[in-house]
Amino acid sequence: MVVILGLEGTAWNLSAALVTDDRVIYETESAYKPAHGGIHPREAAQHHASELKRVVSEVIEDAKAKEKGFSISDIDGVAFSQGPGMGPCLRTVATAARALALTLKKPLIGVNHCIAHIEIGRWRCRVRDPVVLYVSGANSQVLTYYAGRYRILGETLDIGIGNALDKFARYMGLSHPGGPKIEELASRARARGIEYVHLPYVVKGMDFSFSGLTTAAKDALDAGHDREEVCYSFQETAFAMLTEVTERAMAYCGKEELLLAGGVGANRRLQQMLRTMCHDRGARFFVPEARYLRDNGAMIAYLGLLQFKSGQTIELRESAVKPNFRPDEVEVVWRGDE
Ligand code: AMP
Ligand code: MG
Repeated sequence: MVVILGLEGTAWNLSAALVTDDRVIYETESAYKPAHGGIHPREAAQHHASELKRVVSEVIEDAKAKEKGFSISDIDGVAFSQGPGMGPCLRTVATAARALALTLKKPLIGVNHCIAHIEIGRWRCRVRDPVVLYVSGANSQVLTYYAGRYRILGETLDIGIGNALDKFARYMGLSHPGGPKIEELASRARARGIEYVHLPYVVKGMDFSFSGLTTAAKDALDAGHDREEVCYSFQETAFAMLTEVTERAMAYCGKEELLLAGGVGANRRLQQMLRTMCHDRGARFFVPEARYLRDNGAMIAYLGLLQFKSGQTIELRESAVKPNFRPDEVEVVWRGDE
């Protein structure tokens, strides 16, 4: 039995987890909430630094309490989010991971955060070879596995969808994270049978763009449209763009499974649109539980476990963080000859 300790802290959530072959032994987290505005990288990193000791101790102490005979020496490797993410946050968590690996005398495993979102979804939903829509704060990508790598079939040309929603929410005076609040306002508009406000629908080839949508939504608000109307229209536009590109990716690849990943995946309207699209083309749609959609330590530990078993560990000198780490840079050794 292999046990991996995983640390996540690319942005808002500092989280640690212990994962073994078939389950998450224990996971704990500490969320950074900005007092005002969006996520400030240095403040988030300070939050992570001050919470690291507690979060890591808690996960280990709990495993000891829960698992008969568990001791810290049972940990086989230390996995951490090497990127992509906010530089100061990544560096803080990487420093902790290096210190733990050295102390425990166990290998270090550098994990790509985006691929961790994919792999935990495949694991929890038992889905083999899906097209993946990965939608989070900073990232928005459509991916699939082909010949040893996760290929990016389409992606945002500017900001991530979560970021676009959070910015617009902030403009309305709502606190971070704005995504769930916009969902709530939009669902009220739907219940009222509100009209759609025209907003820019920007799909270029297989890519999409959200920053113009955020600006246009702000303008619509300033022009007197009410919040619920604009939130509804924002979601309809952005999610239709994502659904269109995802559907085309599935058609191109001839794949009949779709996996949703990332924090924005919690949105019920997005799920509904994707489910309808899959239903219409006879494909199957998968969404993991909410705790595995958003950033979490279990996904880092789990991908760490897959990499560890395939011998993909790193030396200290290779452990520098990669704020712009792209998923297609990683050789997906754990999927064998698929
Ligand atoms: P992640 O970085 O994967 O943890 O995702 C965080 C992002 O998900 C933030 O931008 C949130 O605003 C967004 N988010 C969380 N829940 C929802 C929701 N129900 N609808 C839309 N966005 C959401
Ligand atoms: Mg994420």
